[in-house]
Amino acid sequence: MKLVFATSNSNKAAEIARLLPASIEIMTLKDLEVTEDIPETAETLEGNAHLKAQYVTEKFGLPCFADDTGLEISALENRPGVRSARYAGEHRSDEDNMQKVLSELEDKTDRSARFRTVIALHLQEVQLEFEGVVNGEILHKKQGTEGFGYDPIFAPEGLKTSFAEMSMDDKNAISHRGRAIKKLVEFLNQTNT
Ligand code: IMP
Repeated sequence: MKLVFATSNSNKAAEIARLLPASIEIMTLKDLEVTEDIPETAETLEGNAHLKAQYVTEKFGLPCFADDTGLEISALENRPGVRSARYAGEHRSDEDNMQKVLSELEDKTDRSARFRTVIALHLQEVQLEFEGVVNGEILHKKQGTEGFGYDPIFAPEGLKTSFAEMSMDDKNAISHRGRAIKKLVEFLNQTNT
């Protein structure tokens, strides 16, 4: 089955392709030659995930799933949340985003945070949501060079190492996206798609 993953991010596509059964052929926005940014104008992760999936099903008539992820920091009232990609501005710099978070947390004792991923799956007749969460804390400085986004400053619960110090497989096993994807895969297997 051809299933579109509404992303152009090759890191994310690679992470997910490893977790899906071989019977599912993942296509990305690059395969569909979509070069424009799909509007992510909703106020919630759920809303944005559905907007992206809907864009693809309407334009190409293919089944599609889309994800949206946010880093939710307790002491910042769950910011950056839905604005995680552009927290420090429209230029979407991981480095600037991390520096902004670190400076906002300077005087805070509570550094607890979680990554939350919502996947919206749009098939012929149904639209579903799958959620994955990983709890953890924001480190005092960057650690590690793997991964992307806020990985160097996020340590999952029970560990002192950041996501950026873990292999892709180790991160997938416990990550927000890995957990959401597992639910998606279970569903797709059950329905024999
Ligand atoms: P997206 O919805 O997956 O594009 O994620 C929005 C933003 O959240 C990204 O631009 C990253 O800054 C951050 N993010 C998403 N997933 C991860 C992750 O696995 N590790 C670190 N940061 C992430």
